[in-house]
Amino acid sequence: MGDRTAFRTCPLCEALCGLELTLDEAGAVTRVRGDEKDPFSKGYICPKGATLGSLDGDPDRLAEPLVAGEVSGWDEAFETVGRRLAEVVARHGRDAVAVYIGNPTAHSIAGPLYGSAIVKALGTRNLYTASTADQMPKHVACGHMFGDPLAIPVPDLDRTGHLLMLGANPLESNGSLASAPDFPGRLKAIRARGGKITVVDPRRTRTAALADEHLFIRPGTDAFFLMALVHTLFAEDLVTSAEHLAGRVNGLDDLRALAVDFAPEDVASVTGVGAATIRRTARELAAAERAAVYGRIGTCTQAYGTLNSWLVDVLNTLTGNLDRAGGAMFPRPAHAPVYRRKRPFTTGRWRSRVRGLPEVNGELPVATLADEIETPGEGRVRALITIGGNPALSAPNAARLDRALAGLEFMVSVDPYLNETTRHAHVVLPPPRPAQTPHYDIALTGLAVRDYARYSPPAVPLPEGRPSEADILARLAVTASGTGADPARLDEMIIRATLEKAVALPGSPVLGREPDELRKMLDTGTLTEQRLDMMLRLGPYGDAFGGEPALREEPGGASGVTGLTLTRLRTEYPHGLDLGALKPRLDEVLCTTSGRIELCPSTCAADVDRLRSALRDPGTSGGMVLIGRRHLRSNNSWLHNVPELVRGSNTCTLQLNPADADRLGVAAGDTVRVTSRAGALEAVAEPTDTIMAGVVSLPHGWGHDRPGTRTRVASRHAGVNANAVTDEQEIDPLSGNAVLNGVPVTLEAAR
Ligand code: SF4
Repeated sequence: MGDRTAFRTCPLCEALCGLELTLDEAGAVTRVRGDEKDPFSKGYICPKGATLGSLDGDPDRLAEPLVAGEVSGWDEAFETVGRRLAEVVARHGRDAVAVYIGNPTAHSIAGPLYGSAIVKALGTRNLYTASTADQMPKHVACGHMFGDPLAIPVPDLDRTGHLLMLGANPLESNGSLASAPDFPGRLKAIRARGGKITVVDPRRTRTAALADEHLFIRPGTDAFFLMALVHTLFAEDLVTSAEHLAGRVNGLDDLRALAVDFAPEDVASVTGVGAATIRRTARELAAAERAAVYGRIGTCTQAYGTLNSWLVDVLNTLTGNLDRAGGAMFPRPAHAPVYRRKRPFTTGRWRSRVRGLPEVNGELPVATLADEIETPGEGRVRALITIGGNPALSAPNAARLDRALAGLEFMVSVDPYLNETTRHAHVVLPPPRPAQTPHYDIALTGLAVRDYARYSPPAVPLPEGRPSEADILARLAVTASGTGADPARLDEMIIRATLEKAVALPGSPVLGREPDELRKMLDTGTLTEQRLDMMLRLGPYGDAFGGEPALREEPGGASGVTGLTLTRLRTEYPHGLDLGALKPRLDEVLCTTSGRIELCPSTCAADVDRLRSALRDPGTSGGMVLIGRRHLRSNNSWLHNVPELVRGSNTCTLQLNPADADRLGVAAGDTVRVTSRAGALEAVAEPTDTIMAGVVSLPHGWGHDRPGTRTRVASRHAGVNANAVTDEQEIDPLSGNAVLNGVPVTLEAAR
């Protein structure tokens, strides 16, 4: 037997590229190429995907559990977890155990399938995720506008003629909350067909350089700019009465009244974007035949994150571009039933103990996790479960959280690495290599710019007795519950509960059927595969277990596919299944109490007062502020142990405008000391005119210089952690999202 080939989805970013892996006889990945036959990515691959083999075969990857730093068997590790968690719960109660779920979990099939089961098993209100250092404002805004925090419109990149992008740099990040393989190529295609791209960003990024127009904007002021666009649309009578939205929008007059105070002339000095430019931008947006406004992480990680996220889709609605081809559209993932019972969105069902911050989506802000660990009193967090995250680097004021983690009574981490966070864990449970792991993007296909499905079975079988990632998470859930139940029973319970709901819900394609009959029809593979099969069969393109399909019009879109099952997806479409361009589906999505789009939700409207006050009294603006930065060869803190991705020149530099560098008396390569309320760091200066004066930029996810880690390559390329100076006290109040952009700092040349 010689080399062989396996195909799979790349799990390293949101772009969903298909990969072709070459494996040797021992199962090692020897080559990675783009999968030419993938109908979505068509062979595209970036430098990260090309190094999947190095990540897969990384000698620093943990193969077996660690208990108190020593290699252990799985039974012993889970026995320790069960005993120590039970002790903490018995002493301090259920809320004393917190869960932190990191960003890589969204790139796995097991994470979305089992994450909530672990939280439910614990019965804790202390759930934290990377979402509150990233995209929670978008969830909140969509929850208020459309009723569902997961109903996030994405720019219809392949058909739009005009794209206005804020705080997004897809040439480095490959896109986010908009899954699109070869995002750069799709942007170039917009221009090639005569469209226009405008990028709004404090830096002239590679994306901005590709665009037709780049507007420098002062960090943290996007909400003023967006409000001024709304103002202009109303003031110049440019609001479109789109037929497909007629009678489906509430709050137009309230919004008009809110926008009165934000004339372009009034916001120009705050944003740094001239009034005439703002007016022209609004006119161009209104005049474009097909346009989309897209805001990403730079707009979310701000003090006005939710307002920004809301205003992006306000503009899409006011210009008639929501839910229409070429505008901002809602993907229809193959695994998500369209008949789900949806509850109107609400936040604040409980509050954090120390700072009283509202729960959002069942989570509390990661910005307050250190408070909850450090502050004595009833309900104090004394134990932590982390799953695929590194908050000791990625949380705001990370040094404080790092110290807090060291004081926990117990910590267990599901992670393949001993990194800055998991070095604090008493037990580490490592998932298998990517090549040994099945994949289906549950989270990201709901954000894809074409409807698409792909299942990747493991390319390499697991050795006897080695648990899969799903096995680990299911066993962790039952261990956390303290019931001692068989983990397989957890999946059975979830399958049964899902089928019982499905046969009872109006609109369901299996309404009135017998759950037992449906259960017997499921795929005969692993329990994970059975659950995925169930989801696909109940989904819009599914076979409805031989019944009437859920989606009767336009079945299968461009592909004409109906009757989808996991078996069909796996055997007939090993390179992925294109389910066509996005289709209008507002009726399926909307679940506000009114049944309409809430253009001016009261929560957002109330927060505009804060914006208005800041406009009237800009305070001490004018000082230096820090923003983040993406790089194509990096993804948060995950990939810094891959030699190919960290070699070459240092990318963890402090970019600053040459005028600021001159004022400080620093040259390229000098060390600059950056200080904020939260802390200080020293970084190597990189003067560049691509960043506006008064702004400095440092990438995040670095700072691999802590003792007790086992990531040898990353330690040799440690970099500086930007979150040494971000401030856990600064959040967007509506979403609890950390403010990681526009952080006030002072600079001096280091001695
Ligand atoms: S763009 Fe993202 S999904 Fe595609 S190969 Fe690169 S890392 Fe993987």
